Amino acid sequence: MTSALYPTFARADLAFERGEGIRLFTVEGEEYLDFASGIAVVSVGHSHPHLVEALTDQARRLWHVSNLWEIPEQSKLGDRLTEATFADVCFFTNSGAEAVETAIKTARRYHYVNGAPERYRLITFEGAFHGRTLATIAAGGQQKYLEGFGPKVDGFDQVPFGDLDAVKAAIGSETAGILIEPVQGEGGIRVAPNAFMRALRELCDEHGLLMILDEVQSGVGRTGKLFAHEWSGVTPDIMAVAKGIGGGFPVGVCLATNDAVKGMAPGIHGTTFGGNPLAMAVGNAVLDIVLEPDFLEHVRDAGLRFRQGLARIADTYPDIVEEIRGEGLMIGIKCKVPSKDLIAALRAEHVLTVGAGENVVRLVPPLIIEPADIDLALERMDAACAALSSGVGARDGEAAQ
Ligand SMILES: *Cc1c(COP(=O)(O)O)cnc(C)c1O
Repeated sequence: MTSALYPTFARADLAFERGEGIRLFTVEGEEYLDFASGIAVVSVGHSHPHLVEALTDQARRLWHVSNLWEIPEQSKLGDRLTEATFADVCFFTNSGAEAVETAIKTARRYHYVNGAPERYRLITFEGAFHGRTLATIAAGGQQKYLEGFGPKVDGFDQVPFGDLDAVKAAIGSETAGILIEPVQGEGGIRVAPNAFMRALRELCDEHGLLMILDEVQSGVGRTGKLFAHEWSGVTPDIMAVAKGIGGGFPVGVCLATNDAVKGMAPGIHGTTFGGNPLAMAVGNAVLDIVLEPDFLEHVRDAGLRFRQGLARIADTYPDIVEEIRGEGLMIGIKCKVPSKDLIAALRAEHVLTVGAGENVVRLVPPLIIEPADIDLALERMDAACAALSSGVGARDGEAAQ
């Protein structure tokens, strides 16, 4: 079949017409449990009434004016985000890659205005994912995303994830900072140990480097804290956020301290759409929910219940599951079978998931998920593993003959 779309996505043959909470409904009316959440985006579920109201109310009044003018909804969201975090200031974008790009530019300008323009390099980590712009594919360092796109943007030195000695060895006179995901998402739900995060902070302080976190996927309650770095007790100088903050509306934001942002003067950076009233209305509505007193505790409880159930499944199907990993509702199943086989078996049971690096199936349901739906999903996951397991047995049998 010919398509008018770029052939860049290997799409599954499924189309949805409607969503409600953690459920998606196809055009034919079939129901699926959504543990992909549009890649960890739909943080408070599909069609949340509070978000629908915020968006439609804003849509009736004003959509877009540009950053030529004051945008009260943007100032409000900025105030609330800085109130809730280490940061003093925010720059709103439309995507995660742009938020990371802003973080990189902020770090380079910091050293530039400090009289050290030669300090422009960032230390990044193997398995990282920071987006698909030319600079963020260089930061991520994955050959498969860099290939054929011309010279790699200079200024990124990659070391193994979690390897402190390699970080120390990579620090040089041109190093500007360290860029890390506290939990690698695309890389396979790899959690950076708290001690490692603290050691990075100490190295940054010792060498005058900026600590830059990419919390595009791990932020906004996903791990059971508002931001994943809070588990380690350290605070960064700059942080990129997107995905969950818009709950499905494209919103990204780069947060920074007053010190880290000192190179960013008027005209130095910009965006046409970033922080527009529609996006900000939805972002504020997401925060209304995520900042409710019991919300993060709900995420932690749900994550615990889910991981306990998954541990039972791992025990039952050691031929399918190698390991359960993650934090809160950012969970990975490292598979012994090809992860795409488990993803397909889960889809056959009407549970939607998404793949990640290291042969991992990512489970990132909407954070509002209730215990009954966790249990229902676990039943279906058990069934999917049972189906796969008999298949694995049958294949082994064939091979043996
Ligand atoms: C998704 C993601 C990005 C890129 O976000 P886009 O909105 O796709 O540009 C960057 N960093 C991390 C950690 C992500 O998960």
